Amino acid sequence: MSQRIQGIGMTSRRTRERMISRLREQGIKNTEVLQIMAEIPRHIFVDEALESRAYEDTALPIGHNQTISQPYIVAKMTELLLENGPLSKVLEIGTGCGYQTAILAKLVDQVYSIERIAPLMKKARDRLWEIDIKTVGFLHADGGLGWEVHKPFDGILAAAAAEEIPNALLDQLAIGGVMVIPIGREGKQILYRVTRKEDSFEYEMIEPVVFVPFLSGVSRARV
Ligand code: SAH
Repeated sequence: MSQRIQGIGMTSRRTRERMISRLREQGIKNTEVLQIMAEIPRHIFVDEALESRAYEDTALPIGHNQTISQPYIVAKMTELLLENGPLSKVLEIGTGCGYQTAILAKLVDQVYSIERIAPLMKKARDRLWEIDIKTVGFLHADGGLGWEVHKPFDGILAAAAAEEIPNALLDQLAIGGVMVIPIGREGKQILYRVTRKEDSFEYEMIEPVVFVPFLSGVSRARV
């Protein structure tokens, strides 16, 4: 593994271990999630100028007005998604820099990830290749439409806040499947876990959160 990927000083394994201790203090319990987060080099998912801040518990800019979610939120959403047992097929909406995608790819059999900003999706795909994660399916599209051909998903994770959950996502969730999604307008967002039952959906309110908005259509940004 190259030195850059492995990290040094503020990007080293030791710095990552400190992040893991903090996550434990913040209430994250899933040992598999913590172990994977100790392994994945978060610093390669941000610009070089921000690498030394990659293990702080903050969201950081990744360009195109978007942010990499803070480590606590990534851990919390992953833990919520997996709480009722292992999942085989997960849809992620909002690839962003690909960090959450990488964590998911290590924990479930198949990840499909949709991003509406093409340059972000391409960069994320390159980064995952760099750390040898080659099984993720990527799509440049409006995630609000889901990914019909691969449905049903036993897990869906959205990294952008919708005012209402898009119907296509509810429709593409398997019976018994779990969706973790922030809902609400700016300043009033709540993280929800939605579980699909035989003929209804169960909504659990988790906690207040701050996410970028879930936007419709695809962005015209070029690489
Ligand atoms: N987990 C990512 C989060 C990035 S921010 C990370 O840590 O990097 C949320 C992402 O959702 C942004 O990249 C944004 O472009 C994307 N997004 C917002 N609405 C979307 C939609 N309708 N379909 C696909 N992606 C969307």
